[in-house]
Amino acid sequence: MKIRTHEYMDIAREQLKEPNARAVLDFFPVILSAMRDAVYQSFEDPQAAIQACRDIRANAVARLPKLLEQFEEQAVKAGAKVVWAADSAQANAYIVDLAQKLGARHAAKGKSMVTEETGLNQALEDVGIAAYETDLGEFIAQLLKRPPFHIVGPALNVPTAEIRDVFLEKGVMDAPTEDPVELGRAARKYLRDRFHFLDIGVTGVNMAVAETGTIINVENEGNIRMCKSSPKVQVSIMTLEKVLPNMEEAMMVLRNLPRSATGQLISAYVSMDTGPKKAEEADGPEELHIIILDNGRSKVYADPTYRQALQCIRCGACLNFCPIYRKVGGYSYGWAYSGPMGQVLSPMLLGLDKTKDLYHSCTLCKHCQSVCPGGVEHPKILLTHRARNREKEPQFHGAGAPASLEARYRAFALAASRPKVWNVMIRGARTALNQKKQGGMVKELFGKPEGWFASRDLPPMGRPTFNQWIKEYKKHKK
Ligand code: SF4
Repeated sequence: MKIRTHEYMDIAREQLKEPNARAVLDFFPVILSAMRDAVYQSFEDPQAAIQACRDIRANAVARLPKLLEQFEEQAVKAGAKVVWAADSAQANAYIVDLAQKLGARHAAKGKSMVTEETGLNQALEDVGIAAYETDLGEFIAQLLKRPPFHIVGPALNVPTAEIRDVFLEKGVMDAPTEDPVELGRAARKYLRDRFHFLDIGVTGVNMAVAETGTIINVENEGNIRMCKSSPKVQVSIMTLEKVLPNMEEAMMVLRNLPRSATGQLISAYVSMDTGPKKAEEADGPEELHIIILDNGRSKVYADPTYRQALQCIRCGACLNFCPIYRKVGGYSYGWAYSGPMGQVLSPMLLGLDKTKDLYHSCTLCKHCQSVCPGGVEHPKILLTHRARNREKEPQFHGAGAPASLEARYRAFALAASRPKVWNVMIRGARTALNQKKQGGMVKELFGKPEGWFASRDLPPMGRPTFNQWIKEYKKHKK
């Protein structure tokens, strides 16, 4: 996937004018948020359940190195091959090499954000191996060469007419239809054919259990199960923070994950694999390779403020509650991770210099934090991103603020810390603003509308000022 985080503002502007994006964003996240809230009521104490999940994630991240060692030991004992990859290139090279050794002509992929992150499809295609996304939404997004629009519904903004056209163009079906059921059926038939004689299947990992060496996948379509049971060789790729101490804690996280993601008590499929197929088992791969990918996360782990971001369980609840995501949608974030979770994570992995519009695009309303079952305090991390970028922090590639912005902030700080200067400034601002009043609203300032005034207007500044009002009030009270 081409990384376009630096184009955030341009894509967001386009998306604001996109009618399909508008229709979906006005509806889908709102419904998902309401479903999440409703299904949490099935817990005797919803807040306690969320807190338990947060505590489990915080403890697991605190013990990450030990848990990963234990997971490796147990997974190897169960017959899996565990490989560590420092970055995307290493992870992709391992999978490509394996596929080539098998003589594979195609690989099927279960929905996984981490392979979006590593750009695995492109790496396979570069050596002539076709990679098929098998999640319906991911499949549509892949055919259209687009990033996921939403973590739960990667193509939910794509109209059926567009799906019909791309299915006809790519030979997924022969006869045109816009019936969603028929479209789903055509995709299923097309992909089922790819599962036959499948040499290699690739999946992500929702949770990895250290005590047993088990990998857990949560899904609704059954395609991940197919990717795990059809091929001779299965590769499951996980980022290192996915590990949890034991099954009991994994089940507590599992109780929160579908509730937060899709408003379900439990997803349609939950598969757990401990090693490859055993002699007495009918299905399953002969070889199971588990790749543990770092890709910058050790650096995040080593940083006390940033470490908390690793607690994320990729439920997507923060997207649904975010007023910014609800306006600009998933494409604007320009990479695998969107919404508040993307605003937190992408700058750590790609650098503060290449992602500055992501972490500045936040109102700090804290809604994401309040619903997060991982216990991520997004606003705190976003403020840290801003401060570190301004300070040109070298570890995460802070680039500093433009000189003109620095000068404006300095002037503001100077005025804000001196009441007399502040009052003079406010008087000047009021006069300038109120002179531009048209029909009861200020629609532009200083001629050319830009920035704020390009898309919004303001009520005029009232009289008396708050300071004048409070003085009067105090006088009156005496
Ligand atoms: S940051 Fe929290 S709410 Fe957002 S996806 Fe991760 S766990 Fe879910």
